[in-house]
Amino acid sequence: QAKGDDKGTWQRYRSELHTAMVQRLETRTALHEAIDGEQFAVMYQPIVDLTTRETAGVEALVRWQHPVRGLLGPYHFIEVAEESGAIVEIGRWVLRAALTEFTRMRAGTTLKYVSVNVSARQFRTPGFVDQVRDALEDSGARPEWLLLEITESLLLRDADQVWQDLGELRALGVRIAIDDFGTGYSSLSYLRQMPVDVLKVDKSFIDDILGSEQQRALVDAIVTLARNFDLAVVAEGIEDEGQRAELAAMGCPYGQGFLFSKPVWPHEISARPQPGVMSPAA
Ligand code: C2E
Ligand code: MG
Ligand code: MG
Ligand code: MG
Repeated sequence: QAKGDDKGTWQRYRSELHTAMVQRLETRTALHEAIDGEQFAVMYQPIVDLTTRETAGVEALVRWQHPVRGLLGPYHFIEVAEESGAIVEIGRWVLRAALTEFTRMRAGTTLKYVSVNVSARQFRTPGFVDQVRDALEDSGARPEWLLLEITESLLLRDADQVWQDLGELRALGVRIAIDDFGTGYSSLSYLRQMPVDVLKVDKSFIDDILGSEQQRALVDAIVTLARNFDLAVVAEGIEDEGQRAELAAMGCPYGQGFLFSKPVWPHEISARPQPGVMSPAA
């Protein structure tokens, strides 16, 4: 049905599609080598108290130190890793690395927790709760130091097994956050029963809180709801001071974003030292 002059367009499209497929295949193969060759690293982004600006916790964000392409963010490989299942091994590695590094990072500071992203596929792997238990034990981290970030969709699919595992994790003392909250399909009435402790409000809701009264009202409603359900709230992707002030005025306790810090290496994390602990420079 394509007209003659569409033929060039179609062929260009075909060749782009081909290139994309080849690239995905290459990434897939390279990911397996990366796991064996330990080419992964974790960066950390501070999660701060919106009133005092003190760092309360850090989110672990995986990076791939690609031998040729350099330092790659999740955008370049997470989707392929999900499809191929490599995410299960990568996630297991990130969890152990994050707990080990956090145990060192927190010493002598007021840092309270490390937040680790868990993909649905990793969470549903049989033995995930044991995986967490082992990682805690081997790193010497306490369960209270760990916050696991899951997605809304995980709570809706396979609900029985997932809810049971979440219950076990919380019984250990591990806390659970819903990441990118608001972008999924969970209904607000559901929220009351959900076995979670923290809502991370997606950046897309924060972007326009100063420009749109409706957007502001929406975030305000989420913050109020969360407070009434005893959930902590973290606003994601705060980029300017006006947003921080507005969120703090709403009573949103925590935030994360480039205004405070981009993700950094472990040695660059600076939290206020514990009272009574002298910093080396003092
Ligand atoms: P996320 O969990 O929602 O993490 C927040 C992302 O937003 C991070 O991107 C962070 O760098 C970025 N960000 C934070 N503040 C700002 C801001 O003010 N402005 C803008 N424009 N961006 C901001 P990153 O590190 O590229 O990670 C992207 C996503 O990849 C994460 O989104 C998470 O879903 C996934 N991810 C990262 N690490 C892991 C992991 O270890 N396991 C799994 N399963 N997924 C991971
Ligand atoms: Mg996250
Ligand atoms: Mg998030
Ligand atoms: Mg997000």
